[in-house]
Amino acid sequence: MNIVVCVKQVPDTNEVKIDPVKGTLIRDGVPSIINPDDKNAIEEALALKDKHGAKVTVITMGPPQAEVALKEAIAMGADDAILVSDRAFAGSDTLATSRTLAGAIAKLDYDIVMAGRQAIDGDTAQVGPGIAESLGLPQVTYVENVEVEGKSLKIRKALEDGYEMLEIQTPCLLTAIDSLNEPRYMQMKNIFTAYDKEVTMWNASDIDVNPEHLGLKGSPTKVKKTWTKEVKGAGELVELPAKDAAAVALSKLKEKHYI
Ligand SMILES: Cc1cc2nc3c(=O)[nH]c(=O)nc-3n(C[C@H](O)[C@H](O)[C@H](O)COP(=O)(O)OP(=O)(O)OC[C@H]3O[C@@H](n4cnc5c(N)ncnc54)[C@H](O)[C@@H]3O)c2cc1C
Repeated sequence: MNIVVCVKQVPDTNEVKIDPVKGTLIRDGVPSIINPDDKNAIEEALALKDKHGAKVTVITMGPPQAEVALKEAIAMGADDAILVSDRAFAGSDTLATSRTLAGAIAKLDYDIVMAGRQAIDGDTAQVGPGIAESLGLPQVTYVENVEVEGKSLKIRKALEDGYEMLEIQTPCLLTAIDSLNEPRYMQMKNIFTAYDKEVTMWNASDIDVNPEHLGLKGSPTKVKKTWTKEVKGAGELVELPAKDAAAVALSKLKEKHYI
């Protein structure tokens, strides 16, 4: 089985502070981490490898320093790593990012493509489904359990108020959430392997994507304005049984003529 895991390097949002004057994010000096949901995707791929045997390839699209995230994935147990990087990708929105990653994944042998549900910086949850669309793959998002039965997978997909049991044929794409598993730590022997392991570098000319679909040119999203939402007040905490709390909330909303 060949499993490709999409890994995004993101700023550790626990460390991001807001500039009190400009109201913008202070990114300088903020450490980068593997996006948390992507760690669950890596863990699931490694667990499937432990159970059924698999080759796990991690792939990221990003600047050269994103190689660190790939090395960490190798130290967790991934077999191969690919960094897709080119100035032509600058300004990519989620559509261009999905198409670029899909173009790279298309060059690989894969049975399962895994991504995190959502990146903690961009937060759109669009890239996994976008890759599946570009590759023409069936997909299941919000995956919280995977069982392999030959060429089909039995998946438990989390819903807001329960779960759904689904069966899907490989090749397919899955997006991972944190309840899927507990990501393993890097292992000492793999840390040494990660040092020596060469990461494959691909640029725009190595992947089969229409140049018009790359970077800013291939990005229909236009950001008109960004701002930090003002905190209006401390709020009021009401600790009551759910039914009584709902009645209090209702009366407060009526009092303010919201309903
Ligand atoms: C107009 C515009 C311009 C932008 N310009 C830039 C820019 O110049 N440089 C820049 O860095 N960002 C840029 N961005 C942000 C960039 O589009 C997003 O960070 C990126 O598309 C991923 O979206 P997301 O963070 O919402 O990921 P989500 O869709 O929330 O991510 C879901 C999952 O997809 C996978 N994934 C997402 N991104 C990657 C990746 N890069 N590599 C591997 N796997 C991935 C991960 O598994 C992740 O968990 C721009 C965005 C817009 C709207």
